[in-house]
Amino acid sequence: MRLDDKVALITGAGGGIGRESALLFAAEGAAVVAVDINEASAAATAASIADGRAIHVRADVSSAGDCEAMVAAAEREFGKLNILFNNAGIMDSRDDDAVSTEESVWDLTMGINAKGVFLGCKYGIPALRRAGGGSIINTASFVSKLGAATPQVAYTASKGAVLSFTRELAVIHARENIRVNALCPGPLRTELLMKFLDTEEKKQRRLVHVPMGRFGEAREMAEAALYLASDESSYVTGTEFMVDGGITAAYVTPQ
Ligand code: NAD
Repeated sequence: MRLDDKVALITGAGGGIGRESALLFAAEGAAVVAVDINEASAAATAASIADGRAIHVRADVSSAGDCEAMVAAAEREFGKLNILFNNAGIMDSRDDDAVSTEESVWDLTMGINAKGVFLGCKYGIPALRRAGGGSIINTASFVSKLGAATPQVAYTASKGAVLSFTRELAVIHARENIRVNALCPGPLRTELLMKFLDTEEKKQRRLVHVPMGRFGEAREMAEAALYLASDESSYVTGTEFMVDGGITAAYVTPQ
């Protein structure tokens, strides 16, 4: 199997991409630490994985103490950490243009989406070193490459931060056998986006821009993350892995 003998920690594992990734990584042989701020949903994900090959941890990724504890739980339970998938994120319905967005919404979004990835790496990288290397996957977004039609400035800025942070970490840790890649999903049919695009009109406005003409599925992101997590991507680091139904191909001009 593609992740035999690997231990993977996945944040935001209670739903969407994180949950699908937890199930897929486990099916490919990994032991999984399913992390979420919503303990019940993390527990449900872990419970769907058989034979004690998964645990759940309640953690808020914007808390340093929680991030330290989730990594410690992985090493305590499974002896090591090989794969760190910093995937938890929010899209606040109050996020808007620069004039309308409350400072508190900006801080909340940056705290989870950007600082949460930093804290995952801060505490996860020493564990990956102890394991002799590993793979970090940070969930960014297609909006880190282009402006979204529906204003969401805090979210977009947070994902830009994830992308540049990922690039720099990839360079810093390349000779330590630690690969760091960004997964850039297009618009997905998960709770996060469907709650934000809460009318049919808003959904259609977004879909107009997607060449494939449909929202992506969490499972399709999990398949891409599996490639980045596995040794099949052993020479891949610092990439922006676009899994976006063609949206950036349609709108982003090559530099
Ligand atoms: P989702 O809402 O289905 O799942 C996100 C999970 O993260 C939830 O289970 C939630 O409880 C958890 N979470 C939220 N705040 C947390 C915190 N502070 N600490 C720990 N866990 C927390 O969303 P999804 O669509 O699966 O999104 C996963 C990632 O993909 C996010 O980073 C999101 O920004 C990104 N993304 C999503 C889309 C999309 O269209 N859905 C597009 C591009 C990128």
